[in-house]
Amino acid sequence: RPQVAFAGRSNVGKSSVINRLLNRKNFARVGATPGKTTQVNYFLIDGRIYFTDLPGYGYAKVSKEERDRWGRLMENYFQEQGLITLGVLIVDARHKPTADDVTMCTWFKESGCPLIVVANKLDKLKKNEIEPNLQRIWDTLELPDTAALIPFSAEKGIGKTELLSAIEQLC
Ligand code: GDP
Repeated sequence: RPQVAFAGRSNVGKSSVINRLLNRKNFARVGATPGKTTQVNYFLIDGRIYFTDLPGYGYAKVSKEERDRWGRLMENYFQEQGLITLGVLIVDARHKPTADDVTMCTWFKESGCPLIVVANKLDKLKKNEIEPNLQRIWDTLELPDTAALIPFSAEKGIGKTELLSAIEQLC
Protein backbone atom coordinates (compact mmCIF):
# COMPACT_ATOMS: atom_id res chain seq x y z
CA ARG A 1 0.00 0.00 0.00
CA PRO A 2 1.16 3.56 -0.65
CA GLN A 3 2.62 5.35 2.32
CA VAL A 4 2.45 9.11 2.86
CA ALA A 5 4.97 10.33 5.44
CA PHE A 6 4.10 13.52 7.35
CA ALA A 7 6.94 15.42 9.01
CA GLY A 8 7.28 18.80 10.69
CA ARG A 9 8.74 20.51 13.68
CA SER A 10 6.94 20.35 17.01
CA ASN A 11 3.90 22.62 17.17
CA VAL A 12 3.83 23.40 13.44
CA GLY A 13 0.35 21.87 13.34
CA LYS A 14 1.15 18.45 11.87
CA SER A 15 -1.53 16.70 13.93
CA SER A 16 -4.05 19.40 13.01
CA VAL A 17 -3.24 19.02 9.30
CA ILE A 18 -3.69 15.23 9.44
CA ASN A 19 -6.94 15.60 11.39
CA ARG A 20 -8.22 18.19 8.90
CA LEU A 21 -7.48 15.87 5.97
CA LEU A 22 -9.28 13.01 7.69
CA ASN A 23 -12.14 15.14 9.02
CA ARG A 24 -11.33 13.94 12.49
CA LYS A 25 -10.77 15.85 15.67
CA ASN A 26 -8.64 13.40 17.58
CA PHE A 27 -7.02 11.08 15.11
CA ALA A 28 -3.55 12.49 15.59
CA ARG A 29 -3.00 14.04 19.01
CA VAL A 30 -3.17 17.83 18.82
CA GLY A 31 -1.10 19.65 21.39
CA ALA A 32 0.89 16.54 22.27
CA THR A 33 3.82 17.30 24.58
CA PRO A 34 6.32 19.12 22.38
CA GLY A 35 9.70 17.49 22.02
CA LYS A 36 8.48 14.17 23.30
CA THR A 37 9.68 11.65 20.76
CA THR A 38 7.10 8.98 20.93
CA GLN A 39 7.13 6.78 17.88
CA VAL A 40 6.23 6.58 14.23
CA ASN A 41 2.43 6.35 14.04
CA TYR A 42 0.72 4.65 11.11
CA PHE A 43 -2.89 5.41 10.21
CA LEU A 44 -4.48 3.10 7.66
CA ILE A 45 -6.94 5.18 5.63
CA ASP A 46 -9.89 3.42 3.96
CA GLY A 47 -7.89 0.19 4.02
CA ARG A 48 -5.99 1.65 1.07
CA ILE A 49 -3.24 4.06 2.05
CA TYR A 50 -1.02 4.65 5.07
CA PHE A 51 -0.57 8.09 6.60
CA THR A 52 2.65 7.97 8.61
CA ASP A 53 3.00 10.53 11.39
CA LEU A 54 6.72 11.06 12.06
CA PRO A 55 7.57 12.49 15.48
CA GLY A 56 8.02 16.27 15.54
CA TYR A 57 11.48 17.81 15.83
CA GLY A 58 13.23 21.03 16.67
CA TYR A 59 11.78 21.73 20.07
CA ALA A 60 14.33 23.77 21.99
CA LYS A 61 13.97 22.28 25.46
CA VAL A 62 14.85 18.75 24.54
CA SER A 63 17.54 16.63 26.18
CA LYS A 64 20.42 15.25 24.16
CA GLU A 65 19.10 11.73 24.83
CA GLU A 66 15.71 12.59 23.37
CA ARG A 67 17.34 14.27 20.36
CA ASP A 68 19.53 11.21 19.74
CA ARG A 69 16.53 8.93 20.07
CA TRP A 70 14.74 10.96 17.43
CA GLY A 71 17.79 10.85 15.15
CA ARG A 72 18.00 7.06 15.37
CA LEU A 73 14.29 6.71 14.73
CA MET A 74 14.54 8.85 11.58
CA GLU A 75 17.70 7.10 10.41
CA ASN A 76 15.96 3.75 10.66
CA TYR A 77 12.85 5.05 8.97
CA PHE A 78 14.63 6.65 6.01
CA GLN A 79 16.99 3.68 5.61
CA GLU A 80 14.16 1.38 4.63
CA GLN A 81 14.29 1.56 0.85
CA GLY A 82 11.07 2.13 -1.01
CA LEU A 83 9.06 2.62 2.17
CA ILE A 84 7.88 6.14 1.40
CA THR A 85 5.57 6.74 -1.54
CA LEU A 86 5.21 10.45 -0.88
CA GLY A 87 6.68 12.90 1.63
CA VAL A 88 4.64 15.72 3.13
CA LEU A 89 6.76 18.28 4.96
CA ILE A 90 4.80 20.76 7.03
CA VAL A 91 6.37 24.14 7.70
CA ASP A 92 5.10 27.35 9.28
CA ALA A 93 3.89 29.82 6.63
CA ARG A 94 5.03 32.72 8.81
CA HIS A 95 8.67 31.80 9.20
CA LYS A 96 11.78 31.01 7.24
CA PRO A 97 12.22 27.21 7.45
CA THR A 98 14.56 26.18 10.26
CA ALA A 99 17.83 24.27 9.85
CA ASP A 100 15.94 21.17 11.02
CA ASP A 101 13.30 21.74 8.33
CA VAL A 102 16.07 21.92 5.74
CA THR A 103 17.60 18.67 7.06
CA MET A 104 14.27 16.89 6.97
CA CYS A 105 13.65 18.18 3.45
CA THR A 106 17.05 16.86 2.37
CA TRP A 107 16.20 13.41 3.72
CA PHE A 108 12.99 13.37 1.74
CA LYS A 109 14.78 14.53 -1.41
CA GLU A 110 17.49 11.89 -0.96
CA SER A 111 14.89 9.17 -0.48
CA GLY A 112 13.79 9.89 -4.05
CA CYS A 113 10.09 10.15 -3.24
CA PRO A 114 7.94 13.00 -4.54
CA LEU A 115 7.59 15.83 -2.04
CA ILE A 116 4.78 18.15 -1.03
CA VAL A 117 5.55 21.06 1.29
CA VAL A 118 2.59 22.38 3.26
CA ALA A 119 2.84 25.99 4.47
CA ASN A 120 0.51 25.80 7.49
CA LYS A 121 -1.03 28.56 9.62
CA LEU A 122 -1.71 30.67 6.51
CA ASP A 123 -4.55 32.31 8.43
CA LYS A 124 -1.93 34.09 10.51
CA LEU A 125 -0.48 35.92 7.49
CA LYS A 126 -1.53 39.25 6.05
CA LYS A 127 -2.44 39.09 2.36
CA ASN A 128 0.73 40.87 1.21
CA GLU A 129 2.94 38.51 3.22
CA ILE A 130 1.75 35.35 1.46
CA GLU A 131 3.73 35.53 -1.79
CA PRO A 132 7.10 36.56 -0.30
CA ASN A 133 6.80 34.03 2.49
CA LEU A 134 6.03 31.19 0.08
CA GLN A 135 8.98 32.24 -2.07
CA ARG A 136 11.26 32.26 0.99
CA ILE A 137 10.13 28.75 1.91
CA TRP A 138 10.73 27.54 -1.65
CA ASP A 139 14.22 29.10 -1.77
CA THR A 140 15.35 28.08 1.71
CA LEU A 141 14.33 24.45 1.19
CA GLU A 142 15.83 24.50 -2.33
CA LEU A 143 12.82 22.66 -3.64
CA PRO A 144 13.13 20.84 -6.95
CA ASP A 145 10.77 21.84 -9.78
CA THR A 146 8.90 18.61 -9.21
CA ALA A 147 7.93 19.56 -5.66
CA ALA A 148 4.62 21.19 -4.74
CA LEU A 149 4.17 23.97 -2.18
CA ILE A 150 0.64 24.23 -0.84
CA PRO A 151 -0.55 27.15 1.30
CA PHE A 152 -2.67 25.71 4.08
CA SER A 153 -4.59 26.44 7.23
CA ALA A 154 -5.54 23.46 9.35
CA GLU A 155 -7.63 25.83 11.44
CA LYS A 156 -9.68 27.31 8.56
CA GLY A 157 -9.54 24.37 6.17
CA ILE A 158 -7.69 26.36 3.48
CA GLY A 159 -5.79 24.16 1.02
CA LYS A 160 -7.46 20.91 2.04
CA THR A 161 -8.83 20.12 -1.45
CA GLU A 162 -5.51 20.95 -3.09
CA LEU A 163 -3.54 18.78 -0.68
CA LEU A 164 -5.92 15.84 -0.94
CA SER A 165 -5.86 15.88 -4.75
CA ALA A 166 -2.06 16.22 -4.79
CA ILE A 167 -1.79 13.19 -2.48
CA GLU A 168 -4.30 11.30 -4.62
CA GLN A 169 -2.33 12.11 -7.77
CA LEU A 170 1.06 11.05 -6.38
CA CYS A 171 0.00 7.79 -4.70
P1 GDP B 1 2.02 19.38 16.09
O1 GDP B 1 2.84 19.43 17.34
O2 GDP B 1 2.82 19.75 14.89
O3 GDP B 1 1.24 18.12 15.91
O4 GDP B 1 0.97 20.60 16.20
P2 GDP B 1 -0.55 20.60 16.68
O5 GDP B 1 -1.44 20.06 15.62
O6 GDP B 1 -0.64 20.00 18.03
O7 GDP B 1 -0.82 22.19 16.73
C1 GDP B 1 -0.02 23.05 17.51
C2 GDP B 1 -0.81 24.32 17.80
O8 GDP B 1 -0.99 25.08 16.61
C3 GDP B 1 -2.21 24.05 18.35
O9 GDP B 1 -2.49 25.03 19.32
C4 GDP B 1 -3.10 24.22 17.13
O10 GDP B 1 -4.40 24.62 17.47
C5 GDP B 1 -2.37 25.32 16.37
N1 GDP B 1 -2.61 25.27 14.91
C6 GDP B 1 -2.45 24.20 14.10
N2 GDP B 1 -2.73 24.51 12.82
C7 GDP B 1 -3.09 25.82 12.80
C8 GDP B 1 -3.49 26.75 11.76
O11 GDP B 1 -3.58 26.43 10.57
N3 GDP B 1 -3.74 28.03 12.14
C9 GDP B 1 -3.63 28.43 13.43
N4 GDP B 1 -3.91 29.73 13.70
N5 GDP B 1 -3.28 27.60 14.43
C10 GDP B 1 -3.00 26.31 14.13
